[in-house]
Amino acid sequence: MNTNCLLKDEYLNETDGLIYCSNCHTPKQILIELDNNLQIRNIRCKCRLKAYENEQSEQLQRKQMMKIKFLRANCLQDNTLYDYSFANDTGINPQMHYAHDYVDNWDKMKTSSLGLLLWGDVGTGKSFFAGCIANALIDKGIPAMMTNFSRILNTISIMNPTDRNKFIDSLNNYPLLILDDLGIERSSEFALEQVFHVIDSRYRSKLPLIVTTNLTLNEMKNTSNIAKHRIYDRVLERCVPIKINGINLREENAKNNIKTVKNIFSSYTA
Ligand SMILES: [Zn+2]
Repeated sequence: MNTNCLLKDEYLNETDGLIYCSNCHTPKQILIELDNNLQIRNIRCKCRLKAYENEQSEQLQRKQMMKIKFLRANCLQDNTLYDYSFANDTGINPQMHYAHDYVDNWDKMKTSSLGLLLWGDVGTGKSFFAGCIANALIDKGIPAMMTNFSRILNTISIMNPTDRNKFIDSLNNYPLLILDDLGIERSSEFALEQVFHVIDSRYRSKLPLIVTTNLTLNEMKNTSNIAKHRIYDRVLERCVPIKINGINLREENAKNNIKTVKNIFSSYTA
């Protein structure tokens, strides 16, 4: 072997006649027997192998991050939802541990087709609770779509019936669907029919659904409106109710803002 062919960081090991790496002192070549002939093949030395594995794992991580970024953009249609995460939880909502439980037991919840019905007064953090579940599942690579009926109705009201059905069916491509603010959408016959269609399609697919609403459980159970009754019936069967009674965050924020302004405008009175 002509040692002039060696690179700066390699040397010829006189014992086995193979080229070694001067950094990690492991072989960069291997002897293999092929058709009764011994042949030399190039391999990665220990340090090259380590560098290669690191590169592969970084590439995988980058791919995973891209996937999660894409999922978040696709599943969370409102940018404010990006901030609804366990990391941003101030501990104001005493029921928040259920959100962790849901995420931790996602596989079981999915197999059992079980969702949640988050109900309680306006501004108590129901959307935050649901958004935390969505973001935590998305972080695990699970497509958790969070939207609301106002948005769905706006989208489908301009579609023909075939496209409308396709759109509603497409919501079942998401293992978890979160519908925010059930009950505030228009109560027209068309709107209720579409709401039923979405809920029923989800119900029949046996995929979990999380719903937030300002309605009380009694209002949902005892509605005299037949169209609403068949919607709420399906929700109540599959979505386990959790009353969210956190502090009214919007009222708290308003109070804090008044305090801030009082400090800035010395003569301000509310
Ligand atoms: Zn090496």
